[in-house]
Amino acid sequence: MVPRVVFGKGSFNQLGQILSTERKNGAPFIYLIDDVFEHNKAFIEDRIELSGIDKIIYVSTKEEPKTSQVDQLVTTLKQEFSFTPSGIIGIGGGSIMDLAKAVAIMMNNSGSATEYQGWDLVSNKAVYHVGVPTISGTGAEVSRTTVLTGPEKKLGINSDFTPFDQVILDPELIKDVPKNQWFYTGMDCYIHCIESLKGTYLNAFSQSYGEKAYDLCKEIFLENNLDKEEADAKLMMASWHGGMSIAYSQVGIAHAMSYGLAYVLGTKHGIGNCIVFDKLGEYYPEGVAIFKQMKELHDIDIPEGICADISEEQLNTMVSVALGLVPLWENALGKNWKEQINEDKLKEIYRSL
Ligand code: NAD
Ligand code: ZN
Repeated sequence: MVPRVVFGKGSFNQLGQILSTERKNGAPFIYLIDDVFEHNKAFIEDRIELSGIDKIIYVSTKEEPKTSQVDQLVTTLKQEFSFTPSGIIGIGGGSIMDLAKAVAIMMNNSGSATEYQGWDLVSNKAVYHVGVPTISGTGAEVSRTTVLTGPEKKLGINSDFTPFDQVILDPELIKDVPKNQWFYTGMDCYIHCIESLKGTYLNAFSQSYGEKAYDLCKEIFLENNLDKEEADAKLMMASWHGGMSIAYSQVGIAHAMSYGLAYVLGTKHGIGNCIVFDKLGEYYPEGVAIFKQMKELHDIDIPEGICADISEEQLNTMVSVALGLVPLWENALGKNWKEQINEDKLKEIYRSL
């Protein structure tokens, strides 16, 4: 679990004070920031107290983080600085937070990030790392994984060294997220709740967090009677609780299939989950019905026909990526999941997207 967290409007201003006790003998802090903020310096950059050889790196989030991107950043940082940084600070959404977690791990572990995709493969503690979400829903700020696309697979580095040492939850930072993206990433949280609460891995720990996040999502996206500031604060906590819920359970079918889409077509996580979940009424009837209501209420477009022109080979890859995520299917459908889903059924769903 994340050992330290601050919450509240304006709490981002405490970053300098928080970091001051973590600086080691002049070693720099490295800030990885979503480049959406590069032209609005007053919002993030001007509020960061740079000192010595601290460095800001703006990163594009057009594509989700890759193992090659992590390797390249680590190589550059190692070449530029003769000693290990005091800390890595990720400021952005799931993409940037995952990148920051992965870079922090790889600064202290040899080889390529690809070697650590999986469960508990990391042997050395990561460099001190801090997460500052600027969009809410993924739960990446609280989770034990950093999801990376590698040459062979899209899979997280799941380890005890992955979670942030410190998180700053400042709802003011998410106030300008564009509406469609707000919905897509917010629905990631909602889908985490459904897949966790309807899964066979459910237990009291996951349920307690999942139910809270689910109620918050309904308040925000369905009842729709909160003012913006209150809704942003609640979404930030929904994301946190949703992430905590899957920490001791698993996600399910929408995530497995969305990983297949991401791997083959590069479809981003939030929107990919929405595209798939919309068609999963057979598996999550109540969850999908409420999702459709939310979608209509907020007048959100979900792309259709994205698999209309894909080749048989691409379809096969999607299916094999999705079916490779065994724990997700086992959580969704139970130990006998292979009797309930097969390649043909999965292809049929993919073709309908
Ligand atoms: P994202 O980080 O990719 O950002 C989505 C878009 O929102 C980008 O265009 C970004 O520039 C923009 N944006 C972010 N903050 C903004 C702000 N305040 N104002 C305006 N625009 C803003 O999106 P995401 O949905 O948060 O993250 C998706 C990633 O998270 C995927 O790579 C996925 O694999 C990963 N993920 C990780 C976990 C985990 O537990 N580690 C869980 C779920 C998803
Ligand atoms: Zn997710």
